[in-house]
Amino acid sequence: MTEPDSPLAQLHRQIAQAAETAGRRAADVALLAVGKRQSPTAIRALFEQGQRAFAENYVQEALAKQALLADIDIVWHFIGRIQRNKTRDIAAHFDWVHTVDRAEVAERLSAQRPPARGPLNCLIEVNVSGEASKGGVSPEALPALVAIMNALPGLRLRGLMCLPAPSPNLDAQRAAFRQLRLLRDQMGDPALSLLSMGTSSDFAAAILEGADIVRIGTALFGARS
Ligand SMILES: *Cc1c(COP(=O)(O)O)cnc(C)c1O
Repeated sequence: MTEPDSPLAQLHRQIAQAAETAGRRAADVALLAVGKRQSPTAIRALFEQGQRAFAENYVQEALAKQALLADIDIVWHFIGRIQRNKTRDIAAHFDWVHTVDRAEVAERLSAQRPPARGPLNCLIEVNVSGEASKGGVSPEALPALVAIMNALPGLRLRGLMCLPAPSPNLDAQRAAFRQLRLLRDQMGDPALSLLSMGTSSDFAAAILEGADIVRIGTALFGARS
């Protein structure tokens, strides 16, 4: 059960408020709980309050938690940087991947996806702020990667993701998220239906700009260990 004052209930209210401001339905914004460096016990507690989708950034940490939480029906999302030697584990142990940003990784994930699990749901991470240190494909290279991924049988392309540089300013937050939405609209590819954008510090701006999935860690779990 969700307690009325639990972080989860508060977050659902804040998401609903932002959706209402945007003229959108709260039910159209999915909450992804980011459990990196949070305990399996904390994840299980959120599951018991009704949360189903959880995200992890580090493969080894995720596999250890998945083993301890195998008795409950979590939908697992991978949102970390993808090293090429980790693609086999990601393809086998996740339902969604938000951070595909190059053809080599896409091809490996497709080839290594166990057929019995069906195609792996993928989003492409786009580097909208142009930061050299960040993962993500450049907007210029996006069309070629979309074409490659649409042709890979082990993947199902679902949308675009971004993690812009944090900003305390709502207008600057919105500008970065708007870039992802405009890119998606320019592409005009029906496979790119979902926008994964917004964290604890900027999810309201992301929802105003059309986020379909918000990825929330600290606002749900508290500070990471
Ligand atoms: C950690 C992380 C989040 C969640 O950030 P919070 O500030 O804890 O809400 C979202 N997206 C990605 C890609 C992350 O690595």
